[in-house]
Amino acid sequence: MNDWSREDVSTLKGVGPRLREKLARLGVQNKQQLLFHLPLRYEDRTRITPIGSLQPGQRALIQADILQSGISFRRQGRSRRLLLLKLSDGTGFLTLRFFHFNAAQQARLKRGSCIRCFGEARFVMGALEMVHPEYEIVDADAPPPLHENLTPVYPTTEGLHQIGLRKIMQQLLQQLSHQGLNETLPVDWLKQDDFPSVEQALKILHNPQNQQDVQQIQAFKHPAQRRFIIEELSAHRISLLLRRKRISSLQSPCIDVDDSLTGILLDNLGFKLTAAQQRVVAEIHQDLRTAQPMMRLVQGDVGSGKTVVAALAVLPVLQAGYQCALMAPTEILAEQHYKNFKSWFEALGLGVVNLMGADKGKKRQLKEQQIASGQAQMIIGTHALFQASVHFNALGLIIIDEQHRFGVEQRKALQGKAMKNMMPHQLIMTATPIPRTLAMSVYADLDYSQIDELPPGRSPVKTSIIAQSQRGKLIESVRKACSEGQQVYWVCTLIEESEALQCEAAEVTYETLRQQLPGINIGLVHGRMKAVEKDQKIQLFKSAQTQLLVATTVIEVGVDVPNASIMIIENPERLGLSQIHQLRGRVGRGNKESFCLLLVKNDLSRQVANRLEVIRNHQDGFVIAEKDLELRGAGEVLGTRQTGEASFRMADLVRDKPLFADAEKLSELLMQPGLEKQCEQLLANWIGNRSEYSDVG
Ligand code: ADP
Ligand code: MG
Repeated sequence: MNDWSREDVSTLKGVGPRLREKLARLGVQNKQQLLFHLPLRYEDRTRITPIGSLQPGQRALIQADILQSGISFRRQGRSRRLLLLKLSDGTGFLTLRFFHFNAAQQARLKRGSCIRCFGEARFVMGALEMVHPEYEIVDADAPPPLHENLTPVYPTTEGLHQIGLRKIMQQLLQQLSHQGLNETLPVDWLKQDDFPSVEQALKILHNPQNQQDVQQIQAFKHPAQRRFIIEELSAHRISLLLRRKRISSLQSPCIDVDDSLTGILLDNLGFKLTAAQQRVVAEIHQDLRTAQPMMRLVQGDVGSGKTVVAALAVLPVLQAGYQCALMAPTEILAEQHYKNFKSWFEALGLGVVNLMGADKGKKRQLKEQQIASGQAQMIIGTHALFQASVHFNALGLIIIDEQHRFGVEQRKALQGKAMKNMMPHQLIMTATPIPRTLAMSVYADLDYSQIDELPPGRSPVKTSIIAQSQRGKLIESVRKACSEGQQVYWVCTLIEESEALQCEAAEVTYETLRQQLPGINIGLVHGRMKAVEKDQKIQLFKSAQTQLLVATTVIEVGVDVPNASIMIIENPERLGLSQIHQLRGRVGRGNKESFCLLLVKNDLSRQVANRLEVIRNHQDGFVIAEKDLELRGAGEVLGTRQTGEASFRMADLVRDKPLFADAEKLSELLMQPGLEKQCEQLLANWIGNRSEYSDVG
């Protein structure tokens, strides 16, 4: 049979160099890839929808008479002229708006004509309308036939129109009918669930024929889709497992773990490890004892005590003569880790160095020398750690804190600092809970430990939702709390991703609060401050010289001020639930009763209110992440890993949960000896040669 991956798309009629280049932008270079470029959705031009039954948001074909046609003027905007049509088909009225039109079009769209148009219906000021629908004027007595099949809508790119894409797709499907396509999956596996062959499945999805298919497809339940979703999930899992296998074949330092140093550290801590911390430390130590690279993800809710677990992981590595690099996502957090590790490690005679972006000139040179010579054993920093001028002497362990903040590129860059032929062990820490179901396809390359217990004596943070209209009262209670020796965070958020705007908002709030709260010492910290300045502000707050700290979400991770007991978050609806939970974790660290106050706008929608209720009613990061996942989807919850490294084309990690077990089984089946070719084909179809999967690391 034909090997479609050997045939370049340019062998199709009508595909010249320019179209070829556009297809390449979609990741489509050969015919196999084009076949797997599947529709996002379908448009129904097989029937006419009566206006009377049109729903807002529905994309539909309608046919109606033009009752009125005329030019109207908008007051603002560049194109002021607007062509407005009023239509009726006897079941209801519909307005059409055109902003771009020429005289000929206007002449054809005249009163009394019959029009057929396809577009999205919207409800505007009490009336249904469509803006710039596709249309044609038809003969009301003898209208042209309707489409026989649904019209597929493909993912596309600038300058490549649906019509063009559909045309070459039809051509390719014709060829497919003549020449056939090799099955990728074992036939027995397909039979079990009555799945269609790959050829049938592609034909159905590109060109669904009967009503039953169409209904199933629209509900994402068609066997053709299910087959492909399971394939795609398996492909991701297999690629991660293969990556894991490649890394496992490399050498890491074999660490002799004894408790001479860890014992001293534990004695100096001033608290006892929780059982969960002890268990996770033991799991890490077990990994370090073997020459196989550790690749372990440690998840623990905010405040579960991940830092000390990291410190206990580090000690035996340093003792064996290797270095450890700890990478944190923000300077505030790196600085705080540095202080902790310094106080713990210097007593043991170990050299701790921090390296920040702001370290320049002589100071930086000196630190880099210490790192290169091995005099610095524990190195803590931000992404400054993997800049070209940094050379490690003998890097044995890499720890990445709050991994969801880093991209894969940054992690790889740090790995590039390894010794020749010696892969560092890797420990990744996160507060973002990973529901089991997701771990299967997104974290299959990592071992997983969970700190599922908080240190004793923590009381739940009481959370309430407060409207802006109550702001005056709120400020009054802040004054009272501060004058009684309590400490308060006030967090400003903004919709825009722009850090600059967020900082500005914090500055404005800071000034206003200073006027409203005379006599209270207020601090301000935001992302655009220099590292030293940020650190200074946090220190002032830590030592209780300021009682109120106005901040942006820079304090989201890591900041640890046990005396702070009240957190106010302005406009929390702009954040994800897990992010709010993370922020809330800044309070409730001491033994005081703590509060989190969500300051929301007055006219909060029902939907947003429901979302915030989840935060109010739950303290468990896991439950919150599950709900967040349901409400916002996997990309948001998992951050970069999901969006950057493993974005799915067909599968949806929330919708397709019931298929995960099948995907797991299929990946196991395909990884058996003898099925290498099928495996390769599966990866080519669903993952292609995306670099994340082909590189070690
Ligand atoms: P996270 O998991 O959010 O990174 P941290 O490591 O910052 O948490 O720890 C939060 C706080 O809890 C710190 O002040 C730390 O010293 C303290 N802590 C950690 N483990 C324990 C424990 N077993 N008992 C009491 N306090 C602990
Ligand atoms: Mg932490």
